[in-house]
Amino acid sequence: MDDCVFCKIVQGSLPSRRVYEDETVVAFHDVNPVGPIHVLIVPRTHFPTMNDLAEDDKILSHMGKAARNIARDLGIDRDGYRFYVNVGRGGGQVVFHLHAHLIAGRSLGMALIKIAVGFAIVSRKLLALLGLADRRM
Ligand code: AMP
Ligand code: ZN
Repeated sequence: MDDCVFCKIVQGSLPSRRVYEDETVVAFHDVNPVGPIHVLIVPRTHFPTMNDLAEDDKILSHMGKAARNIARDLGIDRDGYRFYVNVGRGGGQVVFHLHAHLIAGRSLGMALIKIAVGFAIVSRKLLALLGLADRRM
């Protein structure tokens, strides 16, 4: 597909930070990561969505095996990771060339939320200790 960004990455006419490739898929770091590790696993062949695969197509299973190898190579297999496919606009798909996301590590957003909640709890306890807090709190 001429105007497909992932076809261009697969062919090498657009740059990417590749972490893995074989005869069936290419994997590279997401340009806008939502976690410390965010890799996209992309079939070399252009399928717009998962719905466009034939019943007996083995590509999803191959993508899963590639994810397992990549997770092991990046040292995240023991801790765990998320592996998912967005399907169609309603499923959050933005790039219409089938791909899977492999995401691992704690995101900064979640770490900040945990710090903020911890700070609120400690502040309330401190105010209560000092007798400054509303007793109903
Ligand atoms: P999805 O919402 O499942 O279609 O995800 C598309 C993903 O592709 C998003 O996470 C984007 O950040 C990522 N993306 C888009 N363009 C590029 C690119 N040129 N290189 C790497 N990742 C990209
Ligand atoms: Zn494509």
